[in-house]
Amino acid sequence: MRSAEISPEMDGKKVTVFGWVHEVRDLGGLVFIVLRDREGFIQVTLPKKIIDPETFKKAKKISRESVLRVEGTVKKEEKAPNGFEIIPEVIDVLNESQAPLPLEVTEKVPADLDTRLENRFMDLRRPKIFAIFKIKSEITKSIRDFLNREGFIEVQTPKIVSTATEGGTELFPVSYFEREAFLNQSPQLYKQILMSAGFEKVFEIGPIFRAEEHNTTRHLNEATSVDIEVSFADHEDVMKILERLIAKVYCDVLENCEKQLEILDVKLEVPEIPFERITYDEALEMLGDQIPWGEDLDLQALKTIGSKIESHYFITNWPIKIKPFYVMALDEKLSKSFDLMHGYIELASGAQREHRYEKLVENIKSKGLHPESFEFYLKAFRYGMPPHSGWGLGLERLVMSMLNLNNIREAMLFPRDRTRLVP
Ligand code: ATP
Ligand code: MG
Repeated sequence: MRSAEISPEMDGKKVTVFGWVHEVRDLGGLVFIVLRDREGFIQVTLPKKIIDPETFKKAKKISRESVLRVEGTVKKEEKAPNGFEIIPEVIDVLNESQAPLPLEVTEKVPADLDTRLENRFMDLRRPKIFAIFKIKSEITKSIRDFLNREGFIEVQTPKIVSTATEGGTELFPVSYFEREAFLNQSPQLYKQILMSAGFEKVFEIGPIFRAEEHNTTRHLNEATSVDIEVSFADHEDVMKILERLIAKVYCDVLENCEKQLEILDVKLEVPEIPFERITYDEALEMLGDQIPWGEDLDLQALKTIGSKIESHYFITNWPIKIKPFYVMALDEKLSKSFDLMHGYIELASGAQREHRYEKLVENIKSKGLHPESFEFYLKAFRYGMPPHSGWGLGLERLVMSMLNLNNIREAMLFPRDRTRLVP
């Protein structure tokens, strides 16, 4: 049985429980073993007077973090966690832990992030850290449920590719037999091809790889992207899907992760939709003369804007020259694009896409790229490509901003960054 399945009302019942030894408290004639499982704690109480002497002796010597199987009787006990304890008949050490531990699982001794990540298997045993991934799982489930209900088809596109999505340098090369290949930085081109294939509404939840050299608290070299693409839709349509999705995710987490939010001391509020929308030009106005027209908004600029707008907002109509070739122009200078922001954190980028073949080729050339290397993609635009729009949402960015984590690494089980390739 698991800790969550046992209650004081089961007083007198025989149970078998499994868990890790969180703590052993030896008071001489009385020993407490606090067992921990995924959902919580179970106190195993051994009064010397009534416990078999062999078992009692063994219990005193059990090292912390060993894995136990305990058979015993539930006893109502107000002072124990969750109001019950277990008086054991059999204690089976399924696996003994070495000592000393590489990392504290109790919250008594704080460790720095590096040490924690190096010993991630142990760090993840901490209820506070586990709670993050329980919530991340709920978020993923909520996203899938929402998009499925909206008529999306879940797809899987290649992660080993021959061209860069955006022609950037932020690519990891891999050797693919006798050829050079890359890890995909985004499913962008493939999800667009699926619009030509008539799939109409697709989504993918999968890894993206970015060989960004910089080490920031918002960037990983391997992240998870939630991507959608929708035919016969403009950028406004997919912004509406995005804001409804975010609100739904908040609702689901509030409803289903009450305990985890409490452990993390996070008070969530479902953001109100529609989210505020400001244009790039309006953003520059808010910033005074900080950023010259046509430049990307840097961290400082986003912090200034983020401090002025509560909750989530969109920045729309970005200059076309700083957007990738597949983004559709709004006029000479602007594009049908948007970023979803929460505070200073960019959660998603999206746009209506250029679906007209000639314009797209022009765009590719104007970015200094070669249409020949995109032939597999361009071909899909010559035989009936519907107008379409979509976005990519960073899952770890969403977790980070929702739970107020100060580093995106906290939202990844085994983060990959500039220096970290193991574990
Ligand atoms: P940024 O400007 O913050 O570096 P980006 O504009 O380069 O991000 P996009 O190409 O727009 O990123 O990717 C779509 C989304 O994927 C981003 O809004 C973000 O949520 C997420 N994302 C992109 N790169 C990373 C990364 N290196 N680590 C974590 N998430 C990322
Ligand atoms: Mg972006």
